[in-house]
This record gives sequence, structure tokens and C-alpha cells, in this order.
Amino acid sequence: MKKQFDIIIVGASASGLAAAINAKKIAPKSSIAMLERLPRVGKKILATGNGRCNLSNIGAADHPYTNKDFASTALSKYNVDKTLEFFKSIGLLTYTDSSGRIYPLSNTASGVLDSLRFAAENCGIEIFCDTKVQKIKPTTGGFAINDEFLCKKLLIAAGGCAAPTQGSDGSGYELLKLLGHHVTKLFPSLVQLTSPDKRMRSLKGVRVHDAIIEIDGVQSRGEVLFTDYGLSGIATMEISSVAARKCESSKTVLATLDLLPTMTENEITDFLSNFSTKCENMLNGLLPKAVGAAVLREAGIDSAVSSDKLSKNDFCKISRVIKHFEVVINGTKGFDSAQVTSGGADVREFEADTLKSKIVPSLWCSGEILDIDGGCGGFNLQWAWSSGLLAGEKMAKELTYGEKYA
Ligand SMILES: Cc1cc2nc3c(=O)[nH]c(=O)nc-3n(C[C@H](O)[C@H](O)[C@H](O)COP(=O)(O)OP(=O)(O)OC[C@H]3O[C@@H](n4cnc5c(N)ncnc54)[C@H](O)[C@@H]3O)c2cc1C
Repeated sequence: MKKQFDIIIVGASASGLAAAINAKKIAPKSSIAMLERLPRVGKKILATGNGRCNLSNIGAADHPYTNKDFASTALSKYNVDKTLEFFKSIGLLTYTDSSGRIYPLSNTASGVLDSLRFAAENCGIEIFCDTKVQKIKPTTGGFAINDEFLCKKLLIAAGGCAAPTQGSDGSGYELLKLLGHHVTKLFPSLVQLTSPDKRMRSLKGVRVHDAIIEIDGVQSRGEVLFTDYGLSGIATMEISSVAARKCESSKTVLATLDLLPTMTENEITDFLSNFSTKCENMLNGLLPKAVGAAVLREAGIDSAVSSDKLSKNDFCKISRVIKHFEVVINGTKGFDSAQVTSGGADVREFEADTLKSKIVPSLWCSGEILDIDGGCGGFNLQWAWSSGLLAGEKMAKELTYGEKYA
């Protein structure tokens, strides 16, 4: 005998849990089930924000998400204030740090997951773990799932293919394709970049806390970390999907680093030519020592000589390298190391104001599975909450008032 529900949600993590709780609030008599392939719900939430869960950002409304026009409806209907109200209603308070990032007051991701999990359980949502959805068949009244479940309304909130050990293994895309949807090309995003450049080894572990990295005309500013395999740090991760896309077509791409964005090339030249020291010490007051040494090598300057011996042209060469330090990039660390997926279910096949499929009746999608992603700082979780809350509301209303309720 198949288990029958009004609403079934595939994927019990950020977006799915928010959707389920909101749907139940709006349609308290509805029966709702969540199907989760892992042994427990919300594993990825626990990994977010280094275990602190950077759950949103006060700048979310202005953030340049991909497919921003489509995302804007959900992000304004369930904006940051509304999302924090939702969290408050399930017992979770937050604080905002000086850069606008929002964290749970407990500073623990487990606090966020527990609040969602207990809210779902307390309102009677049934959760089936160790239940990977492999088959969805549209029926006259809704859907049959895995030959085991039936439902009237279905939400696929199965995430993308980033960090598969945390749950989302890309199987949601296959389910959507079998239902007739299209999925755009997928790239890892918020991921480290790899480089064949041998200089990386000598710079391993060195951070430049404020740099600009430019790839294919796109810039990102913040921390850059040199590693033995290439580049990491927030500024690098922010721009990683640009590198991933470029490397797909041309194998390698050049990353140009401005290692000192607060000074112009002329200011650096003037500054350096104004005092006398051994060249190897000349950059110690500006850059980490190992980076300074790499700059001098790149500029062809003998680090053993005194800076008195350098010509104006030598100083210019040094400042030029500081402002244009080039690293060849040949790829990324891949989906295993990525925080999000760039690309996903084609948003043209969904209604922006409901997140309902235009192709398959009674089907919704929310969260990372859609072709929407943002940068570091709480933006991706905000999209997961906003889209989940909106899809949950719309499914519940359609269930209660019928398709033409609006
Ligand atoms: C290490 C790490 C740190 C991060 N830190 C942050 C941060 O601090 N702030 C931020 O905004 N974002 C962060 N992110 C990104 C953020 O976690 C995701 O964008 C967000 O979790 C997406 O939510 P989602 O519910 O759409 O998908 P997911 O959280 O990926 O959840 C999808 C769920 O669906 C389940 N599932 C998948 N396929 C099936 C199937 N076929 N059947 C049943 N279940 C299935 C999965 O097991 C999973 O539980 C981080 C990501 C990682 C990996």
C-alpha cells in the first residue's frame, strides 16, 4: 500500500525544510512528507559558515545573483526581514556582524538545523530519511514516487551537485530531466582554483588579506590565499565560476592579482624609491615576505643588492608586478570542494512568482537546484530560504484554494 500525502518534498535541507514548515503553517490540515536520501536531515547546514552557518546577509536584495530578475520575486516576497521573522517564529534569533553577514545568536549551525528540524517534527511533518528519490511518475492526481509514495503537490529541493558528501549529489537534476525540464551547464562555484604555476609551492600558505583578482574581465576583492595547488581565499572563491567556465572552453585562463589595491603604481614606485635597504627587505612593509620575494623574482631584481643600485625603471617594474601579478589557472578543485553549483534547472521553465513548473502540473522547485547562485556571505542560504518559503506558501495555497486562488 502506497503512502499518500498532500505535499511531498524531495530533499530535507535548507530550502526543503523552510518550504515544509511554511506550507504547514498556511495549510495546517495538510499532510506533508519529506524524503531525504541521507540518514539524517540538513547535513549540509551543519557544514555552513565553518560550523557557524552564515545564514543570510543584509545586502541580499542588491546582490548580483545569477538570473537576478527571476530570483528577485522570491527574494523580495521573503526578504531578509521576513526570513528572520520566520526564524524567530521557530525560536531562532540572529545577529549581524560588521560586514552585514547574519549568523545565529548561538553561533552554531547545529542551532539552525535543530530549530528547523524540531519545528518540522512538532508540526507533524513526516520525514523519511535513507530515502533516495529515483523515480517520479506523474499521475492524474499528482505524482507516484519510487513506487512507494503518492502526493498531490511535489517540491524538488534536492540541491545541486556541490559537496556531494553533504547530500546533494546532482540526482535532482536527473529527476527534473526525466520530467521534461532542461538543466543548464553545471560548474562548481565558490571553489579553489588550480594552477600549474610552480611558484605556487614557494608561496604555499601565504595570505594577502586585501587583493583584487581579475579573471576574464571580472574582478573580486578580498583575501587571496596561495596554496600548493593554486589559489584560495574568499576573493578567489567568489570569482571561481568565471574561471571554471573559461577553463572549460580554453583549458587555461590568466588570473591577474593586484596585490596592493590601496596604492597606485606611481605611489608604490615613489614610496619604494624613497628609502634605502637591501632589496630582499624592500617590500617587507607592504606585502608578506614570500610574496615580496616572488614579486622581485618576477621583476628580475636581484634581492641581494641594495635598493640604492636600482634604477627608476627597476622600481617601475616592481610596482607593475605588484599591481599585475599573473597566475595561470587551469581549473578548479571541482564539485567535491565547491560550496555551490553554478547552473541548474532552467528558470525560464518556472514561474518566478510561485516557483511552479510551467511544464509539469503540480511541480515546484526551490533552492540551489534552480539556476541561481550567489557569492560568499550568506547569499546562497538566503536564496534557499526565500525560494523554499515561497514555494511552500504557494503549494499550500493551491492545495487549499485550488489552482486559481490568486
Ligand atoms: C562547506 C559549505 C559551506 C557553506 N557555507 C555557506 C554559508 O555559510 N552561507 C551560505 O549562504 N551558503 C553556504 N553554503 C551553500 C549552502 O549550503 C547551499 O547553497 C544551500 O544549502 C542550498 O540549499 P538547498 O536546500 O537548496 O540544497 P542542499 O542544502 O544541498 O540540500 C539538498 C538536500 O536534498 C537531498 N537530496 C538530494 N538528492 C536527493 C534525492 N534524489 N532523494 C532524496 N534526497 C535528495 C540531499 O541529501 C540534501 O539533504 C555552503 C556550502 C558548503 C558545501
